[in-house]
Amino acid sequence: MFEYFSIEEYHTRLRTEQTTCTEVVQYYLKRIREYQHLNAYIEVYADEAIQRAAQLDEQRKEVGLQGKLHGVVIALKDVICYKGHKVSAASNILKEFTSVYSATAVERLIAEGAIIIGNCNCDEFAMGSTNENSAYGKVLNAIDETRVPGGSSGGSAVAVQAGLCMVSLGSDTGGSVRQPADFCGIVGLKPTYGRVSRYGLIAYASSFDQIGIFSSNVQDAALILEIISGKDEFDSTVSTKEVDDYSKKLQTNKKFKFAYFEEALNHKSIDSEISTAIHQRIAALKKDGHSVSAVKFDLIDYIVPAYYILTTAEASSNLSRYDGVKFGYRTNTSGVALNDFYKQTRTTGFGKEVKRRIMLGTFVLSAGYFDAYFTRAQKVRRLLYEQIQSVFKEYDFIILPTSPVTAFKFGEKAEDPIAIYLADIYTVMANLVGVPAISLPLFKHSNGMPFGLQLMATHFDELSLLQASDQVLSENKK
Ligand code: GLN
Repeated sequence: MFEYFSIEEYHTRLRTEQTTCTEVVQYYLKRIREYQHLNAYIEVYADEAIQRAAQLDEQRKEVGLQGKLHGVVIALKDVICYKGHKVSAASNILKEFTSVYSATAVERLIAEGAIIIGNCNCDEFAMGSTNENSAYGKVLNAIDETRVPGGSSGGSAVAVQAGLCMVSLGSDTGGSVRQPADFCGIVGLKPTYGRVSRYGLIAYASSFDQIGIFSSNVQDAALILEIISGKDEFDSTVSTKEVDDYSKKLQTNKKFKFAYFEEALNHKSIDSEISTAIHQRIAALKKDGHSVSAVKFDLIDYIVPAYYILTTAEASSNLSRYDGVKFGYRTNTSGVALNDFYKQTRTTGFGKEVKRRIMLGTFVLSAGYFDAYFTRAQKVRRLLYEQIQSVFKEYDFIILPTSPVTAFKFGEKAEDPIAIYLADIYTVMANLVGVPAISLPLFKHSNGMPFGLQLMATHFDELSLLQASDQVLSENKK
């Protein structure tokens, strides 16, 4: 029986002929069927995956393993385009829409021999923290099925958590990779803004969005990152900086300098067990010879409002393209005037949360309110950027919780969107500033749910971030 540990270990088994890609794909397809009720996948590309596995097995027999991801089984969030396959951002407005090209990240995975097994459920247009805002229904957390997996990339997280693929891609605009990773007990990495091309990623808030990675260990995340990162002529915001061989340089016994914010760890919204666990981890890091210091941070209560003003503003503009003419769904057009046609299509095509955000975004951009909301939020973003930059002049990392709470019960906050927004307090910071951040599965709450530790590094220092993550997780296993 196949059991998955890491890409490296899987490749050893392929080389020594202890398994084949075909056997592995069959194993995953069977598991996906067994765990169908979790609703992690929207569509599974079973026939294609079987065919590709057979080709890869032939290739291995003839010339050996070709790419760095030979036969690696990967799932994509339903906001990432894969040519010839449906992509809908879990929205009715894009149901039945087929991608006409592949995202750069997807092309790079395939070029290294990956097998794309399916696309995963998520919150509509990546807006949400519970995966309850999906046109395909909710996704269940495999550890406790009465709880949410987090969002918006809930399906991608559960696909890794429940062993329904080896690694998966999600997108992280304000925490949508790190928070579900935290709720599901896996690794979730958001790279620096501009590290990974956004070409082929359906836009939510373009100055925040990044493709991120879910995995069960740091090594896998490092390998996937080095493959999908780097310059791309189709995305002018992507950096031309060289990409490190992260996966080869992971192990170090360097001693690092960590900072943390008491204002964050003692915030009124945080569960006391989470705060205690992080304080204990800080003490353990010091004992291991790292330096850890408290740093003053006074912007904590401004960041969630700034995030929701700026992202809804960008979303209201990005989502204006879904008008029933160019993409996907449209209402019955007979005898309807053009404006009414737009209105009806958008009224019935978008879900409640997306409409709430389009209205909020339109409001904060409107003539009379622009300066009071949008301009002020931009100023907060600038201040935050400067404060965080100055911390990184002295420290390698900032330690934060990933989420103030463990996975919500279904419906727990359904009538209170503000409460859900406020729970993004620790993740939106990295997106507002554009720095990389990772959630590491370290802790278990007395309610039985996992939770993580978040590390943030300075722009483009994914290498140190992954090295420290590897150390922290290995220390934890001892
Ligand atoms: N929960 C956040 C939001 O709803 C994060 C979304 C994301 O990162 N895509 O905006």
